[in-house]
Order: sequence, then structure tokens, then C-alpha cells
Amino acid sequence: ISELMGMGVFASMNQAIDEGVAIKVAEKHGYLLEVKHRGDAASQQAAKAEEKKARAKKAAAEDDPKNLAPRPPVVCILGHVDHGKTSLLDSIRKAHVASGEAGGITQHIGAYQIEYNGRKITFLDTPGHAAFNKMRARGADATDIAILVIAADDGFKPQTEEALAHAQNAKVPIIVAVNKMDVKGANLDQVKAQMQQHGIAPEDWGGETITVPVSAIKGTGISDLMEMILLQSDVLELKANPKADPSGVIIESQIDVGRGPLATVIVQRGTLKVGDSIVCGQQWAKIRAMYDDRGNAIKEAPPSTPARVIGWSGAPDSGATFKAVKNAREAERLAEDAQHAAKLAATSQAAAPKETSIDALFANIAASQQKTLKIIIKADVYGSTEAVRSVLENIKSSKVALEIVSTDVGLISKNDVLMASTGSATIIGFNTKLENGVTPLAKHHKVRIETFGIIYELADRVREMMADLLEPDL
Ligand code: GDP
Repeated sequence: ISELMGMGVFASMNQAIDEGVAIKVAEKHGYLLEVKHRGDAASQQAAKAEEKKARAKKAAAEDDPKNLAPRPPVVCILGHVDHGKTSLLDSIRKAHVASGEAGGITQHIGAYQIEYNGRKITFLDTPGHAAFNKMRARGADATDIAILVIAADDGFKPQTEEALAHAQNAKVPIIVAVNKMDVKGANLDQVKAQMQQHGIAPEDWGGETITVPVSAIKGTGISDLMEMILLQSDVLELKANPKADPSGVIIESQIDVGRGPLATVIVQRGTLKVGDSIVCGQQWAKIRAMYDDRGNAIKEAPPSTPARVIGWSGAPDSGATFKAVKNAREAERLAEDAQHAAKLAATSQAAAPKETSIDALFANIAASQQKTLKIIIKADVYGSTEAVRSVLENIKSSKVALEIVSTDVGLISKNDVLMASTGSATIIGFNTKLENGVTPLAKHHKVRIETFGIIYELADRVREMMADLLEPDL
């Protein structure tokens, strides 16, 4: 206040001061004050778009600008459980099946593409931020736009906040779809007020967040939402080089009894063709066939196109990136190199502390005889997997080691059973169920599956399992 007085500004503690004055005071104290203009929607949107554009440019840096062509946006849907993510995905899909593809039967391959006013939009159809996070964790920035679904009768919930944080961290532009507008208790203004409290004020409240009221069940507002997605993607100027060497990201993968390992990919650069050889971590494929989300065989997949790829050596990791190489031999060699590197890393970790004293020798023998309980965690949401992990990691035992082989979100699948069987692991489900056909497969492979709805019961049971591993003292 005294400094302000020195500048000829007479303000009390609670009084607002001019931006210019505030910047000067901050400078005096060695701070750089950045002022965000919430009211200035256009400038913020533009700044975000610039950031995204810069990233896209970096990605396309190897490409001559004249080779770049517009590509469809890749959109994911996030939000709290039961706020209507699945319903919205279904409703969008039903309303806007890409022309000429109406014949096929809807296939859930992890992503689908629709056409609106002659323009394509790709949706990731595994709702929820786990899939989104997994991709980010592996550095694959597949999503261009995030739709945050908020139920009009329920407002912000913990997973809404979690989803918002994830999208913001990823610097992905957010469009809010206020769903269930048909429900009696729907209160659009209340949701908008909450948006403002969370720093994402809607456009008509002087903020910058595009907000679209919809009803997934009645189908209202869906066209508006499509228009807003396309508008946002125009701002982002999404481009890719369709002639580059193909590369992209694995959306999901599984092992199909008849067709072997399958993976749904989204092409990010180049055009993927049947016959191409691709490598993804420790797996590779000489592409035997590709299918779109209607189950139709396709010969090629240009940028932003989801395609189910057949011809893999094994199931690649979802969220991992793939790239095309010269030929199958090269792909196989690279995959083998990756396998070799992974093995080396595993053994060097195991052999890390090399002491030669007698004590150490005995300790090593004891360690090699130490029993390990291996666990695969499956839970309803990303937050739960992390909660289960931290509870289990806190179980201390000198006699039995606990190893968490993997954590994932969703139903317990046949793939999980196969993974557990190869790794002699136990599957622990939290707030989730088993897919059809999992029980007999687990029985066949002698894989133990246990599911829980209460975390301390889960922890108690795991402690019991660890104790069971110890042989009775003789
Ligand atoms: P998710 O968990 O976010 O995928 O939510 P769902 O799509 O499974 O929807 C949860 C419940 O809300 C289901 O019973 C839906 O039928 C219902 N629901 C979803 N959207 C709407 C809507 O727009 N209006 C009404 N009345 N119900 C909806």
C-alpha cells in the first residue's frame, strides 16, 4: 500500500488496482506478473491453439509444409461415471455413420470415425481417462480435442475434476458437453457456475470454454457438438503428411482365438497399407488385413483413421507408438532387439547388488528362495488402480515379496487371464467385473481371480495370499 501511495495510487487492502500498476509493483519485487484475461475469450483460445499448433508443427517438422494435408480431429470423451460418456458415443455414432459405410455392423474396436457435413471426425470409444493417460504416459499424444461430459443434474464430481486436470495437463483443448438436459433436475446454469469456479468459464459467461448442452438419449444438441468440434479443429489447423512413412499409436490390442493378436491403431502420419511391415516395441507385424470400425476390409488407412490390424507377432501395448519399416525382416529384427534389451534390463536389475561376503551370499540365497506373489490389478478407474497399488505396496513382509505385474482399467478380460497364466500371477479386481467367458478360461489355465469392492478387504485378502505362499515351518 505504501508503494502504491508512492506511485500516487491510493488503494485499500481489498481494492482492485490497474493491471499496469500491479505489473510495476510485481516487477519491483522481482516477479513477472502475467495477466490472463478471462473475458478475452478469443485471445485465450488463440493462445491455446498456438501452443497446440506449435506441437503439431514439431511433430510434422520432418515434413515439407507442401506435403501436409488437413486431417480429421481425434476426439476423446472424458467425465464422471454415469454422466453419459458411453451414451454420447453411441448417440454420435448412430446419428452420423460415415456415408457409404452404413452396411456394416458396428464393431467396437476402440475408435470409430463419423462424417458430419462431409467432414470426418475420429472418436476414441474407450471412454474414460485411463486410456487417455496410458497414451500420454507412453508419449503418444493421439488426442486433439477432449470432450468433458458433465451431467446437467449432477454437476462436477471427483472424476470430472480428475478428467479436467488430465486434459489440462495434456494441453488438449476442452469442449464441455452438458449432458442429460432432458432430465427433470437439469440445471445448466449451475454447471456453468461450477465451470467458472474451476477456471473453465463458458464462453457466454465471459470465459473461453465452448459449452454445448446435449441429451445423449434424446439426441438433442449432438449436431451442435459436432459443429463445435469441427470449429475447434479448424482453429487447431490439424495437418499430417499422408505420404510420409506411416506411424501412429496403438489404441487397444487383444488376442483373438481365431485371428491371433489384433490391434486397433490410429495412423498419425503417412498412409498405412496392407502388406506394410510395422514394429511396435517388442512386437511387429506384416499387415495381413485391415478393417474399419464397421468390420469392412480396408486396403489403406490415411492419417487420423482408426484401423484394426491383423498379422502381429504378439499383442502390442495399448498406448504405444508404432512405425513402418522397410520390410518384415527389419521389423522382426527391431522387435527382437527390443525384446533383448528388455531382458537385459530385467536381469541387470535382478543382479544389481553384487556383494561377496558370506552374509551377502546367504542373503542372496534367501532372496532367491523368497516367494513372490505376483498381482495384476484391474479396476474401474485410473484413480482406483493407483489407490490399490499404493495400498498393496504398503504391505511389508520380509518373507514374501509382492510384485505388481500390471495395472489397468476395465473389465477383467481373457487377455488378462492369458497374461496372468504366462506370468503365474493372480488377478485382483477392484470395482470391476469379469468379461463373458473369462471364468472357464481362468479355470483352464488355473489362474486365480478375486474381485473386491472394499479396499481394506482387498488388502486383507492379499496379506492372506502372501501368508499362504509360505510353506509351513517344519
Ligand atoms: P458413462 O458411465 O459416463 O459411460 O454413462 P452411461 O452412458 O453409461 O450413462 C449412464 C446412465 O445415464 C445410463 O442409464 C444412461 O441411459 C443415462 N443417460 C445417459 N445420457 C442421458 C441423457 O442424455 N438423458 C437421460 N435421461 N439419461 C441419460
